[in-house]
Amino acid sequence: MGLKLGLAIFGMQYCLKSFLDCGIINIISETQADMKDWFTIDKIDDTTYIISEYRHWEETHCYLLIGSERCLLIDTGLGICNIYDEVRKLTDKHVIAVATHIHWDHIGGHKYFSDFYAHKAELDWLNGKFPLSKQTVRDMVIDRCDFPEGFDVSKYEMFQGTPTKVLYGGEIIDLGDRMIEVLHTPGHSPGHLCFWERERGHVFTGDLIYKDTLFAYYPSTDPEAYLRSLKAIAELPSERLFPAHHSLDIRPEIAIRMRDAFRELKAQGKLHHGAGTYRYGDWAVWL
Ligand SMILES: [Zn+2]
Ligand SMILES: [Zn+2]
Repeated sequence: MGLKLGLAIFGMQYCLKSFLDCGIINIISETQADMKDWFTIDKIDDTTYIISEYRHWEETHCYLLIGSERCLLIDTGLGICNIYDEVRKLTDKHVIAVATHIHWDHIGGHKYFSDFYAHKAELDWLNGKFPLSKQTVRDMVIDRCDFPEGFDVSKYEMFQGTPTKVLYGGEIIDLGDRMIEVLHTPGHSPGHLCFWERERGHVFTGDLIYKDTLFAYYPSTDPEAYLRSLKAIAELPSERLFPAHHSLDIRPEIAIRMRDAFRELKAQGKLHHGAGTYRYGDWAVWL
């Protein structure tokens, strides 16, 4: 989620380099401007995939975790093209969709999945009470986006609906042979969730942690809670981080650097809305 801070440097070429650095295998990468190549699919391992939208500056990443019994789709993207068809290329099992949080760029494809979970603190945002207007959301969808031919942004609507299960944090999502822990990590938004797969050491960090500018200035953000959530993620014995935006060349140590920088801002009395933007090399925070 963001306004005008996207940097072209975090574009396709950078990400392709990142795949080489991270050992992620790019299995489908197309660049022609039509509906079928909106998504890029990369493989983390035999049962974990990244479904990305690189034609929007936010470079969203959704993650498909395939279990022996069922699958988990973490975030469903902008909703500009049909992510369901992409998922069906990879699995025919039942899919539970979950969002790291209820911002339009994470729930766009929820309309294709009848079984979806959401955090209690953001249910209102699925029920007509999202704090931004339709036009503001559309303006952010239009921002630096190479739309597929025929897409009519004037019809773009933020997904609304009722989840099949309400999450609070602490739940385990059982995929059969994979257990995914739900971590309530507020800060970017009140019901923000990270997902922790202890057995593989994978943390799916949503908008809490990614390279580029973190957003902690909206009224619905909470800089103090952000620090507490960064502390929780930094303490996990993780091996890989998987963000919802931008570069995939990101390692667990960044959570420690972010936590320490937030702590320093707090010590300086700057960890509050309106304090400004602070840059730390490969990331920044806008308070
Ligand atoms: Zn986002
Ligand atoms: Zn967001």
